[in-house]
Amino acid sequence: MNDSFDKPPQDDEPQIPPPQPNTPQNQSFSNNPPQHPSNQSPQPTNIHCVKCGYNLTGIAIGTSCPECGTDINLSLQGGFKPTSGYAITSLVLGILSVITCCFWGVPGSIFGTLAIIFGGLAKRDYRDGKCGNSSRGMATAGRICGIVGLAIGLAYIILIIIAIVRDNM
Ligand SMILES: [Zn+2]
Repeated sequence: MNDSFDKPPQDDEPQIPPPQPNTPQNQSFSNNPPQHPSNQSPQPTNIHCVKCGYNLTGIAIGTSCPECGTDINLSLQGGFKPTSGYAITSLVLGILSVITCCFWGVPGSIFGTLAIIFGGLAKRDYRDGKCGNSSRGMATAGRICGIVGLAIGLAYIILIIIAIVRDNM
């Protein structure tokens, strides 16, 4: 009578062996942060070495790549990531827009608008992890120059239109 009561429901399947003695140890280990890539891990998953491409997932922060010895912090920051072509284009167009905004305001407005657009594309590349911190700085500088060039260019165009309208009055 007592025997049937004590038996856990798992005994319905006699093929399965009883739980191994390791199980309580594993449960105590589960209090530690998981080593395998999971959503709870603070370290982003699928990190690859910036130099050799070795998968660094699960390797402690502050150590170096086991393949080539590169500091893992560089990989986390994207230190060697290529510069985004959009960021360079945005910076060049932004500078051009400030330089050329005095010529009737038209080239400055066009270059300024393009600098803002390319700056946005560069920032999207940065968010996607395709380029490093330097690209983000260049894109920001390009957009600021573009906004300045566009503003001066538009002000120039408005002043010219006002002057033409006044002349015709
Ligand atoms: Zn490496």
